[in-house]
Amino acid sequence: MEIYKVLKKYFGLDSFKKEQAELIKEILRGKDVLGILPTGYGKSLCYQVPALMMRGSTLVISPLISLMKDQVDGLLDRGIPATFLNSSLDLEESRRRRQDIQRGMYKLIYISPESLKSPRIAGILRNLGLAQVAVDEAHCISIWGHDFRPSYLDIRHFIDTLPKRPVVTAFTATATEAVIEDILMLSGLQDPFQIRGNLDRPNIFFSVVKPQDDLEELIRIMDKRRGHQGIIYCQRKKEAEALSRILEHRGHRTGLYHGGMDDAQRHKVQEDFAFDRIQVVVGTSAFGMGIDKSNVRFVIHMGIPMNLESFYQEAGRAGRDQGYSESYLIYREPDFQRQLGLLQHNLQSEDRLLIERDKLVTMDRYGRGRKCLRSYLLDYFHSNPRQGMLGEKEESVPCGSCSVCAQQGIL
Ligand code: ADP
Ligand code: MG
Repeated sequence: MEIYKVLKKYFGLDSFKKEQAELIKEILRGKDVLGILPTGYGKSLCYQVPALMMRGSTLVISPLISLMKDQVDGLLDRGIPATFLNSSLDLEESRRRRQDIQRGMYKLIYISPESLKSPRIAGILRNLGLAQVAVDEAHCISIWGHDFRPSYLDIRHFIDTLPKRPVVTAFTATATEAVIEDILMLSGLQDPFQIRGNLDRPNIFFSVVKPQDDLEELIRIMDKRRGHQGIIYCQRKKEAEALSRILEHRGHRTGLYHGGMDDAQRHKVQEDFAFDRIQVVVGTSAFGMGIDKSNVRFVIHMGIPMNLESFYQEAGRAGRDQGYSESYLIYREPDFQRQLGLLQHNLQSEDRLLIERDKLVTMDRYGRGRKCLRSYLLDYFHSNPRQGMLGEKEESVPCGSCSVCAQQGIL
């Protein structure tokens, strides 16, 4: 079957995006690829379509249990034989799935990088003759990324010990130079074909506000957006809890989400939000990875996150349907010291601390908002002189559609 037939038959879609088509073509030629494309672009299709066309199974390495389950459920709904293995399964279910994997019943097998450490699982996968290993959220391999996962470093060894080398593909939305270098060096890709998409999100209006009273400002923003769905990111659980109570009290249908809640509670909030039963989720960074909700109209950050990568990813959960959406950062001067304190508390290694401190400074500068916000973001994410081929780096021009440009009259 050709790729368009697979696209139509399994995914009900008529056309690929340009970068998707190019990546898929290379993968099917047997070439390793690295796809750096924005959140919501459709990176999964880039390895799923080839998986359906190749003989043998594709192993997908994915960092989050919730993400795996959603993806596999989606594939099963489309009639694609897929499964996942991770610590959420009971022994019996794990055993059954391993047997079915051994029988070659699945085109796609999702696992966490930690599972590769299990000799039993690694052994089974080794004997399968994998056609493709797809590394999703590949930035997790880098300490320069925003959610470093040491187990990602084991992927390369696993690939090296396979009897026949599969095609290796890697995907991420994080495109800073340091992260890309780490992915290229550490993930076991061999001379990959690379695509770097444009990371701009033109339908999101970026704003920084520096109010006298941050709570009053939040309420003002929220009251104006009644009926629209949004996410409010807080840096601490306590603040999220307090804000969700206040908003609920003011008649906003609100859900709370943070890492301290149990799975069932979190799942309920996720579902309520997915089905528009609540209007806004107030949460910490624990909320969002893997959420594929298209009509989020605004994302508000109460205070700066640790780095621009987290910020852009979280803000980018707005407007996946390409409709007009807004990102607000409610900037508070003292947050910088607070966040720095947290880093110092959490990070033992001096090297890591220096890296993370720099990232925090860069994030804080965004909040100070002296320069076009969109240019600031894009210059940061696209700065990659070695890959750029152009030699000199050009600075982006003011976008005309962010709060800084608006204040300066560039609209
Ligand atoms: P990413 O991993 O890049 O953030 P996903 O793979 O989760 O994005 O896909 C996001 C959404 O885009 C999905 O709902 C998917 O069905 C949709 N999508 C992907 N490719 C296409 C396409 N060629 N045409 C239309 N929609 C697409
Ligand atoms: Mg993805």
